[in-house]
Amino acid sequence: MKKRNMAAPLRLNATSASPGVASGPAYIAEPPTAAALSQSAVSGYAELAAAIETAIDELQKLATGTDAEGGDIIDFQLEVLRDPTIAEMAGARIDANENVVFAWVGTLDGYIRELESAEEEPLRARAVDILDIKNRVLAALTGAPVKDFPAGSIYVGKDMEPSRFLAHDWSAGGGIALYAGSAAGHVALLARSRSVPMVIGAGRFLTTGGQHIRVDGDAGVIVLQMDKEGVAPIRPELTASTTVPAEDNGVLQTADGRQILLSINLNAPDEIDGIAATTAAGIGLMRSEFAVTSLADAANEEKQLAIYRRVLDWADGRSVTIRMLDVGGDKPLSGLATSPELRGIRLLLARPEITRVQVRALLRAAVFGNLRVMLPMVTFPSEVDDMRQIFREEAAELARRDVPHRFPSIGMMVEVPAAALMLEQFEGADFFSFGTNDLTQYLVASTREDADFAAHREKAAQAVLRLLAYAVKLAGSKPLSICGDMAGDPRLTAELLAVGIRHFSMAPAQLPAIRSAIVGLNAGGTKAAGE
Ligand code: PEP
Ligand code: MG
Repeated sequence: MKKRNMAAPLRLNATSASPGVASGPAYIAEPPTAAALSQSAVSGYAELAAAIETAIDELQKLATGTDAEGGDIIDFQLEVLRDPTIAEMAGARIDANENVVFAWVGTLDGYIRELESAEEEPLRARAVDILDIKNRVLAALTGAPVKDFPAGSIYVGKDMEPSRFLAHDWSAGGGIALYAGSAAGHVALLARSRSVPMVIGAGRFLTTGGQHIRVDGDAGVIVLQMDKEGVAPIRPELTASTTVPAEDNGVLQTADGRQILLSINLNAPDEIDGIAATTAAGIGLMRSEFAVTSLADAANEEKQLAIYRRVLDWADGRSVTIRMLDVGGDKPLSGLATSPELRGIRLLLARPEITRVQVRALLRAAVFGNLRVMLPMVTFPSEVDDMRQIFREEAAELARRDVPHRFPSIGMMVEVPAAALMLEQFEGADFFSFGTNDLTQYLVASTREDADFAAHREKAAQAVLRLLAYAVKLAGSKPLSICGDMAGDPRLTAELLAVGIRHFSMAPAQLPAIRSAIVGLNAGGTKAAGE
């Protein structure tokens, strides 16, 4: 037998945040420096000038090898980009404290609308050429891409930003081992939905970059000092999502014959690849902040329209609930500096330039399927009314421009305790969905980033259930669902039925467990006779 001079593998106890086992070379994450943070925030004229230059370069490259007609279009676009008045108009908006991304969008949108309403057809046809350069410069304005780490490695660090998780290619495997972190945080939520093994709360441990380590998300363990050759290749764990899915369209019956709907939560839109739409009643929650991750994306109506349309096409007529950007807290929007008290709808109402772009993209997407729009972190009824007014104004503007659109139903997350306790006052909401993750964090006076949050959550489950029972009564006859993590916890299914919930939305991997939990239960949550 080959002799090894290695120390025995060292097992570190940590906490599981996402099941499965992965091993690979460690990638030690550097904490972001102040310089790097300020670099990622897009701020002014120099960035705009550089982005315009990039767009000019790209167009010049495109021009070589194109035919005469294509060449004419590009010449026109280059002329516009070189026209100093465009940069001056955007500059004036920056002077007036507008963010550079929206200063550019606002300037070009003004130009596009002017062309769209021109009498002469050739001028009207130019609008789409301007739309193209608007988006080209926008793409160049996107903040510096998050530094990625090698595919297949194990990310080791104090914490991880959701944008870093989303930018990484997990198809080659890999895992996450955090010194701190939280099983209820958004990265853990993403890891579970993509079946990426993850452990948290390991405390600071020493390992060098490239050294082989193993993350065991089932046992909540990290194994260090491993000999690379001694490690058997790890087969990706079979997760619930890889078992044969039930193609029942997410429609179930309780033992006493009441209908229950099961929908799925969607983070990044490519999560639907490989999932058959027939396994669920639809999408109960699409977290748009994981699809629209930078200020440039937030300003890009066409890009958003394409993302939402893709999901609606996939759903094939089933209901798709897209939640408007819930930015703030541990979900920053790259390039947007915000204050901690602004999150969800408060931020959306404070930053109408961001909101109006998403509203237009949603109104236009609604033509392609059964869209419901959901508002995040609503606290007061006036917030829903104010957002509905923005939808009305943008719908009127689209109608004036003859752009196809449809008014969706507009509902709200019930995830702030004050809103849950006065739910009957939200006349402006068409439907409600309980966000038990935030409800819990505000009920236990903690944050999801707190390492003890999972323990607090367990101990406070009864308090959350009582709040839900009270709120369900206040909701009256409006459609009601639950999309927080509680919906995917089979230990709570009977109690959620007992409080009156009939529509559950969860990570796709949780569907089989909740299906089994519902079998044999009456609608009131009691066990059916003979079970
Ligand atoms: C919730 O708070 O329960 C929820 C579903 O929203 P998120 O987890 O994205 O905050
Ligand atoms: Mg929430």
